[in-house]
Amino acid sequence: MASRKPDAPHEPMLFDLPEVRPQITTEVWGSAGSLEELEGQINTCMKCPLGGTRGKFVFGVGSPTATLMLIGEAPGAEEDAQGEPFVGRAGQLLTKILEAINFRRQDVYICNILKCRPPENRKPAADEVKECLPYLRKQIALLRPKLIVCLGLTAVENLLGTTESLGHLRGRVLEYEGIPLMVTYHPAALLRNPAWKRPTWEDVQAMRKLHDELVAKEGR
Ligand code: URA
Repeated sequence: MASRKPDAPHEPMLFDLPEVRPQITTEVWGSAGSLEELEGQINTCMKCPLGGTRGKFVFGVGSPTATLMLIGEAPGAEEDAQGEPFVGRAGQLLTKILEAINFRRQDVYICNILKCRPPENRKPAADEVKECLPYLRKQIALLRPKLIVCLGLTAVENLLGTTESLGHLRGRVLEYEGIPLMVTYHPAALLRNPAWKRPTWEDVQAMRKLHDELVAKEGR
């Protein structure tokens, strides 16, 4: 490696520079300093047509210091009515799954790819995801969880841009911007197909173990 004479003027070298992170947006909410502030800045969003059909904006719920973040697809009818993610049948099952691995709902953070309900609970459309995903990315940047869990293929596909099947993604530790990420079945899928409950139980036990190891190693 080239050396520098001690009296030579200091020239900044690449490795002296701070890491440059891509800016999520230049809009006002991009500089929100807390989840609460962010919610106040975006909850009247009308960037896509779902803004005009929603009941309530479903920002996300849980502890602002949560170490575990769960990400689903989009609000359903019950969530749209209450303004809270995962409060319908699938949500009640999610709460039970969390309790089975000793997490209380209020200690984790739960949100979705979309903040507004798509009509008839259809899958999020590409233009809706394009407008909404930056909000989720900002939520993740503010929370900095130790572990992200994607519930179902829609969540992981949109967050990581992967096209792999759920079968290939389950059981692996993936990564979103340096944060470990795991994937399991969406609770609504478990209601339709109870045979997936056993593999989900295996997934969530592995997630609990990894979560605890990460918290023990890194704190908080
Ligand atoms: N399904 C989701 O993906 N999210 C919710 O909030 C409710 C049901």
